Amino acid sequence: MSNSLASWNYKSFDLMAPNDGIIETGWKMIEDLTTNAYQIQQQLLEEILAQNVHTEYLDKFLNGSSDKKLFKEKVPIINYEDIKTYMEKIANGEPSDILLAEPLLELTLSSGTSGGKNKIMPMTAKELDKRTIIRNTLPWSVINKFADGLEQGKGMYLFFVMPDMRTPSGLRARPSLTSCLKSSYFQKQISSVYTSPYATILCLDINQSVYCQFLCGLLQRDEVLRVGASFANVLGRAIRFLKDYWRELCTNIRTGQLSHWITDPGCRNALSLILNKPNPQLADSIEGTCSKKSWEGIIKELWPRTKFVDVIITGSMAQCIPTLEFYCGGLPLVSSYYAASEGYLGINLEPLSKPSNISYTLLPNMAFYEFIPIKENHQELADQPQHLEGVYDDQDCKETLNKKEEIEPVELVDVKLGQCYEIVVTTFTGLYRYKIGDILMVSGFHNNAPQFRFMKRQGVRLSIDAERTGEDGLWKAVTQALLLIEPLGFILTDYTSYADTCSTPGLYVLFWELKMKGSDDLPEINPKITEECCYIAEESLDYLYRVLRKDNRIGPLEIRVVKHGTFDALMDFFIAKGTSVGQYKTPRCIKSEEALKVMDAGVVGGYFSQKAPKQG
Ligand code: AMP
Repeated sequence: MSNSLASWNYKSFDLMAPNDGIIETGWKMIEDLTTNAYQIQQQLLEEILAQNVHTEYLDKFLNGSSDKKLFKEKVPIINYEDIKTYMEKIANGEPSDILLAEPLLELTLSSGTSGGKNKIMPMTAKELDKRTIIRNTLPWSVINKFADGLEQGKGMYLFFVMPDMRTPSGLRARPSLTSCLKSSYFQKQISSVYTSPYATILCLDINQSVYCQFLCGLLQRDEVLRVGASFANVLGRAIRFLKDYWRELCTNIRTGQLSHWITDPGCRNALSLILNKPNPQLADSIEGTCSKKSWEGIIKELWPRTKFVDVIITGSMAQCIPTLEFYCGGLPLVSSYYAASEGYLGINLEPLSKPSNISYTLLPNMAFYEFIPIKENHQELADQPQHLEGVYDDQDCKETLNKKEEIEPVELVDVKLGQCYEIVVTTFTGLYRYKIGDILMVSGFHNNAPQFRFMKRQGVRLSIDAERTGEDGLWKAVTQALLLIEPLGFILTDYTSYADTCSTPGLYVLFWELKMKGSDDLPEINPKITEECCYIAEESLDYLYRVLRKDNRIGPLEIRVVKHGTFDALMDFFIAKGTSVGQYKTPRCIKSEEALKVMDAGVVGGYFSQKAPKQG
């Protein structure tokens, strides 16, 4: 095994320019890591325990021992709520060595939109270096194997940072993506690799930032070989912004003058170097493209040399696939990595695979992993509407998982093909046997490292009376109902839900934003069909729901159709509350009254189930 891959000297990457041998180094690293996955895992755990054994948290369970066996026997498997008081104490100024030995650099803030709550967790300088370098090198090494000549052009990527916040004790707190984007490594790379000048990414006014990033991307369109953003919904949102602003962007290009409302000095400065002369020819060409009635294939037309679109489309982002495919005009959608505030955990080694085949290979040096086998009926994941066909389809998973129960966690080396697991991590940053909240299914192996498909997030649940419906139950209900309207040309662009417990009896509400296939027109809603959708959704909810519904202890399910832009308004709402744009995921269940008001403001029609579902 290579010398201590677990604690690889990531700084050595810092000296390399992106194309300077980094591809070969990256692949060598992937091969080393995956070949020695088990040894690296053991070494990592030993190092984490040796380093942190005297923290208040571990000492409580291990009494000064760093024995790996004892660790598994005594240290409980936890979720965020179990460790929240430690996080809060650190945020409020207690020494961080109650939880981790390495000096604290800052606190990481999760988006709070996937799991329903904002989490804070420690970040160290070493961990941040490791994540930043892995994030900026490994996916790049991988994609270069599948697409030639990428180093001869640039990426038109939309990146956003959040302002640094301060905890009551003065500690810096920010989302992990912001930390990576503000790293010196990224800063050094940016001008040679991306079209966006650094200042446009740092601009905290989202509209000015995205406007300037598009402007730079359009001005350098001939150099652009890839287009991307973090998650699919961010790119979808940006394209809608482009729809509103392309005329103005063209005017800026035509005249060589930047719009006056761009007041951010960094942006103005950066643009003065790129937008320095009138370019009517380019403006005419962009105008010709954007003024077409249909924006089908717009990305390919605006950036004709683009080879792929780099955005995460798995998990809750799968909902965005039809919309993005429409804009992409046949370009492959590449989901490069699987990452969370807790760590940069997996990369996709087959970036050009179809959405249904996207797998991430676990990086054994990023955390010590354990996997709790999940036995649960995932049939609903297979019963999906046409456009998502195959996204979650896996015969083995369907067959082996039929009864809900949790059993003993296994290590990376013991995971089984086709089995679903909840992932548990132990890290240098104070997370010990910590459940991230994601369910993954093992889909293969690269050397000795497991590859998995992202199945679902253990999110917020709807609840009325004793009934509980999680994201997966909801997904099943929505997808079943969609089977009725998809053949009629409807596309569900986004959805969320809410448990209305103020009504008597309480009821579940689904918010749907719909459009017609091939156009952005608001479809004409047929009340009868939408009511039938409500009924189908109820039919696919669990037994207890149907019993309570029959007894009138739960009221008829309601679908509230919302106008276009309502989910954008919801995103704006969360961003205004401090969620990172780059890490935003539509929450599938809404708990906050304020967020509910945003959704209700967009409602164009409400439809109720007209009959109680069958109980059998
Ligand atoms: P956050 O910590 O707020 O950035 O959210 C991290 C969560 O985003 C993960 O735990 C996953 O649920 C989700 N996520 C991250 N990467 C992916 C991916 N490639 N596919 C699906 N979901 C993802």
